[in-house]
Amino acid sequence: MGVKGEGQGSVILTQLEWLVNWGRKSSMWPLGFGLACCALEMIATAGGSRFDIARFGMEVFRPSPRQADLMIVAGTVSKKMLPAVLRLYEQMADPKWVIAMGACASTGGVFDTYAVVQGIDRYLPVDVYIPGCPPRPEALLHGILRLHDMVQKGIARGASLRG
Ligand code: SF4
Repeated sequence: MGVKGEGQGSVILTQLEWLVNWGRKSSMWPLGFGLACCALEMIATAGGSRFDIARFGMEVFRPSPRQADLMIVAGTVSKKMLPAVLRLYEQMADPKWVIAMGACASTGGVFDTYAVVQGIDRYLPVDVYIPGCPPRPEALLHGILRLHDMVQKGIARGASLRG
């Protein structure tokens, strides 16, 4: 518009950030892996036309962590499995996000034992928690949409262990 001053640059930067966040939330690719019974609900969400996750550009769960930017921790995390989960997270490119799906991933659930991690947020920066045992596909979709909102608004910028 030909108006010069501090404000003009800020407006342009804000719009660019909005565009980048829109691109990120519109092409969020989940990592294809599961740990226990919650994973079956995740598979139903991903694979079934009934829930149509393709509406959100997320129908292809990536087999490689290097192609994924969303980790859905679906199921019980045993202490024995924890190093593998952390390694997968480390191999994902930044920015990346984490959803704790179900009671086990969020808090250990009914498995209050020495062998089970009592919440994956002790090791990974969780963006969204989804309650339930197991959560239904609708609940997972709700959590994913909440994450999309947070990414669009710049609330969830995608944390990294290296951060
Ligand atoms: S929250 Fe319930 S359904 Fe999900 S992994 Fe734990 S026991 Fe299984």
